[in-house]
Amino acid sequence: MTESFMAEEKLPTRAQDFSEWYNQLVLKAQLADYAPVRGCMIVRPYGWALWENIQQALDRRFKETGHQNVAFPMLIPKSFIEKEKHHVEGFSPELAVVTIGGGEELAEPLIVRPTSETIIGHMWSKWIQSYRDLPVLMNQWNSVVRWELRTKLFLRTLEFYWQEGHTAHATQQEAMDETRQMLDAYTDFALTDAAVPVIPGKKSEAEKFAGADITYSLEAMMGDGKALQFCTSHFLGQNFAEAFEVKYLDQNGQLQHCWTTSWGLSTRVIGAIIMVHGDDQGLVLPPKLAPYQCVIVPIFKNDEEKAAVLGAAKELKAELVKAKIRVVLDEREGQSPGWKFNDWEMRGVPVRVELGPKDVAKQAAVLARRDRPGREGKISASLADLPVTIEKLLAEIQQALHDKALAFRRANTQATATYDDFKKAVETGFAFAGWCGSEACETKVKEETRATMRCIPLDQEGVLGAGAPAGNGKCVYCGQDAGERAIFGRAY
Ligand SMILES: [Zn+2]
Repeated sequence: MTESFMAEEKLPTRAQDFSEWYNQLVLKAQLADYAPVRGCMIVRPYGWALWENIQQALDRRFKETGHQNVAFPMLIPKSFIEKEKHHVEGFSPELAVVTIGGGEELAEPLIVRPTSETIIGHMWSKWIQSYRDLPVLMNQWNSVVRWELRTKLFLRTLEFYWQEGHTAHATQQEAMDETRQMLDAYTDFALTDAAVPVIPGKKSEAEKFAGADITYSLEAMMGDGKALQFCTSHFLGQNFAEAFEVKYLDQNGQLQHCWTTSWGLSTRVIGAIIMVHGDDQGLVLPPKLAPYQCVIVPIFKNDEEKAAVLGAAKELKAELVKAKIRVVLDEREGQSPGWKFNDWEMRGVPVRVELGPKDVAKQAAVLARRDRPGREGKISASLADLPVTIEKLLAEIQQALHDKALAFRRANTQATATYDDFKKAVETGFAFAGWCGSEACETKVKEETRATMRCIPLDQEGVLGAGAPAGNGKCVYCGQDAGERAIFGRAY
């Protein structure tokens, strides 16, 4: 575990130690800290502001597609979790159980929710009577507890924050459409807001959600070539509807089980944003989600300059606020402008405005792009045009981050036909290889290479782009016919 971090200390480079770079950066940028209970996480204001922007971007998409937010309790009767066979097998090792309440042993132990399918299924069995009650489209923003043994801030903690969507439908087709619709909503968020190029695909039987018929996920490549599951969308078939007797009377007066879905995205996406875009100086935040899109650093040597520069800086800040740009003016005393530049660079603010007495005299400022450190990313702009100039710059940065991450992922994804090539590919990135679909091959590959089957991409051509080599249609492990190619990689 990382010791508390001195602000003056330099981060290790990503090439030296990617994992330590990540751990130290999360602390140093004040996104999160370790909690007194091992494996728990405290999200600090800067990290929570990032999460709030993620929430807003997603919540808008959920509401546009007809979902309503709800709040279910965090405590669930233990018997509920035991009603769906696969669900209990999957979650039992990770459950936190409450056995005492108010000083008394409880008649039935309660579990702290690891996810809410069971309690929601229980309530739906009361609320849903007829086809007229369907579909039910719900989402909740909450935290859940899963007793993880190996933890890492944002990526895997005992308690984490997320949203869980739950829907019930009259037909299989409707539930399937919903599952894919929400995967598309997440994809749109990942590409346009997080600037993370993701691969939408289907999970293997071994990797799917406990209790699902089909799990879809978005997979992303981190800056060290490893994979991270960005979010999931599950088609639950009638498994939970049968376990909890969620039934409705159809138009012919016949009693039918509902078809259900669930889908979730958590604070681990913050980990993805750090590891996809970050560089050796620290965070590089996508403008659409950055808590501050722009920082103004005033530069002055004496009181006279200070008055002129701070006056102009405050006016500028007001103009930027008016233009709906999230801006911070760094008025901290006792720190040099150079120190402030480094600090905000480390914290990933997309655009820095440097404002000195000469700039004020010329009614101009120097803008520096976080994604292009040094001279190359600097431009001079007139103060009058600054809101428009910054808006344009933020859009450019947003796109540049996505394009850079996509180029990196494609450069580190190899279409492999032989197992030798496959083993080399997963050392540094993804292998895109034929897979016969058998769990035996998947397990062998995992044992021998530490790479897991991440997903079968829905868009097989999009993985490597136009003109990429096609697969030979054989399983990379056993050589038997493979219908489609799958992404393999070592994962977080
Ligand atoms: Zn095989």
